[in-house]
Amino acid sequence: MLMLPVRHKRSSSAVDMDISWKIFFLGVLLTLKGQALPADYGGDADAGELREDILEINLESQRDLFEGDIAVDPRRNAIVDEKARWKFPIPYILTDSLDLNAKGVILQAFEVYRLKSCVDFKPYEGESTYISFTKLDGCWSFVGDLHTGQNVSIGERCDTKAIVEHELLHALGFYHEQSRSDRDDYVKIWWDQIISGKEHNFNKYTDDFITDLNTPYDYESIMHYRPLSFNKEPDIPTITTAIPAFNEIIGQRLDFSAIDLERLNRMYDCAETHTLLDQCAFEQINICGMIQNENDDDDWVQTLSSTDINDHTLGGQCRDAGYFMKFDTANKEVGHSAILESRILYPKRGYQCLQFFYRIIGGPGDMLVIWLRMDDGTGTVRKPRKVHTIHGDDNSSWKIAHVTLNTEDKFRYFFQGTVTSKKAFGGILIDDIILSETTCPSGVWMVQNFTGLLLSTAHGTSVRSDCFYNSEGYGYGIDVYPNGRINASADYVGVTFHLCSGEDDAVLEWPAINRQATITIMDQDPDATLQMSNSRSFTTDESELWNKPSIFGTWDDTCNCFRGPEFGWSTFISHQQLKRRSFLKNDDLIVTVNFDDLTHLIKSEVPVQNEASYESPAIDKSVPLGPKVREARALSDPCEPNPCSNGGVCINSKGKASCRCPSGQMTVFSGEACEKQHISGEVLGVLFGGAAGTVALAAAIIATIRRQHRSSL
Ligand SMILES: [Zn+2]
Repeated sequence: MLMLPVRHKRSSSAVDMDISWKIFFLGVLLTLKGQALPADYGGDADAGELREDILEINLESQRDLFEGDIAVDPRRNAIVDEKARWKFPIPYILTDSLDLNAKGVILQAFEVYRLKSCVDFKPYEGESTYISFTKLDGCWSFVGDLHTGQNVSIGERCDTKAIVEHELLHALGFYHEQSRSDRDDYVKIWWDQIISGKEHNFNKYTDDFITDLNTPYDYESIMHYRPLSFNKEPDIPTITTAIPAFNEIIGQRLDFSAIDLERLNRMYDCAETHTLLDQCAFEQINICGMIQNENDDDDWVQTLSSTDINDHTLGGQCRDAGYFMKFDTANKEVGHSAILESRILYPKRGYQCLQFFYRIIGGPGDMLVIWLRMDDGTGTVRKPRKVHTIHGDDNSSWKIAHVTLNTEDKFRYFFQGTVTSKKAFGGILIDDIILSETTCPSGVWMVQNFTGLLLSTAHGTSVRSDCFYNSEGYGYGIDVYPNGRINASADYVGVTFHLCSGEDDAVLEWPAINRQATITIMDQDPDATLQMSNSRSFTTDESELWNKPSIFGTWDDTCNCFRGPEFGWSTFISHQQLKRRSFLKNDDLIVTVNFDDLTHLIKSEVPVQNEASYESPAIDKSVPLGPKVREARALSDPCEPNPCSNGGVCINSKGKASCRCPSGQMTVFSGEACEKQHISGEVLGVLFGGAAGTVALAAAIIATIRRQHRSSL
């Protein structure tokens, strides 16, 4: 195994690199080769897995952000001060400065928090504290609840679900993973490879000041830097991991890691999530409280994986583990039936998605029906409602199903297996159920035998899905390029989206603008909270790509329809990433697709009800702007640490901190901590200067800004 060289002293130049250093770098360089951003990603939505990360995006920002994307000088890894913790639901504003795609992904990120934690959000209605999502310079956030209303900036190119999740974890009180006190046991900081003047972004904090909530160092955290962070040389890392395999993991931007969630749930004492109602992998003998119906003909049997039949949870890879539920239909009479019922569940939202894996071995002779049992009006859950029927076919491998339930009152769901023709062999299997109060994806495509496709499909060649239809009636399909698209690395899977013509086209709007296409390659972990799926979105514009496929597309016999032009990602996910986690469980790649109308979000901004307090927040002096520092230091000098953002100078005024905010050529800063940014008067003058009639207006705005600026001094 390649070991890290031990270097205790900082080196001022690269000349004195010893041999082991060079060997080490070579190793890391090879691993990082694929991580460099391509200069051109052609007609793609974005660079997919090679998309820039937060720090790269923020390099263009003039703002003096701490650790790359934190708006206040921090002193703790996770906030200990309970006053800085949020009460849920957190009020939010989606300002109209945001790109429409950003608004969509912010709502997606909220849904992940609701599925995996007790964190919840609600539209702002005049509360004194809230998060205002705004498109400013880059992706950044304050840390903790400031009790004044605060910005989270989702700037240009920050509009991915994972970046929003990351910035919201800052807002909830978390710092970066590599600033922990024990980080030197796990990562190596290459100080002489850091852009000079940026070294402070790699500070760590002593355990006097931080708490890690008693969780281990997490290479997989969504809060970790990537190897290439504040690096001088484009391919030379500034941070590497003690266990080399994790060099490819740090800085992952898929979703929360298991430990991210543990920390979040510990900090906020989360007992349950908002939208996860039930899940079961049938590994425990209590089968998650599911029950056998007593009036049916047969039972579902908890069955261990065997050489003949693997379970879905573990793929038959573990001895003595890997169970599924089975109704044996061999040699049973027609009509013979077995029913497996859930416990009583109490919905909050009125819509649910039941996802599960099933195998039907007996072909057309076996049938699986999903039912609901509803309240009969007397409080008894009794009245059945048939929801979905699945017939067996000649493909008897594991498949995924999504069933929409839409119920507002307490209910049970149940699986009914039925024999529809007598035969010598047969069986219906169920595994890995997840019931959540979310909407089911409108398109689900399981690409079987993906390893075979990787071997047999040429670079630039795709496999194409059937057409799916969203709730409005728009048809769409996707292409998966197992070995990359043209102009892209062959080490990546490319994914594109296109519209299909359909029977409702005559009444639909064309082009289909302001629709968000979201494509997800599913991590098939049986625990919904631990899934780290790879999800990407774009939002449609006026382009011909989104006009009628019957005019702008080409005829396809296989769907008996027209298919429009493709748009998507040449580098959606790397082969390396696909092998991790459970993206290829059972050798199946599962892709889910949504095509949602975001028109209702175009005007989403609501005015702040107490404008004065928003513009110049009246800061409660008992609540520190940053995380609480030790009393002794705070008493000795209120300017230590400097509470002023954006390069503001702190003045000790009668024992209290007061910020003198800077103004540059482009921007002026205001607010008690210089946290508000405005365009400078001179620039506004240039902007307005062209039209004589607006000079007066410009002057008025400049005067206002200057007044605000002075009043903050
Ligand atoms: Zn960050």
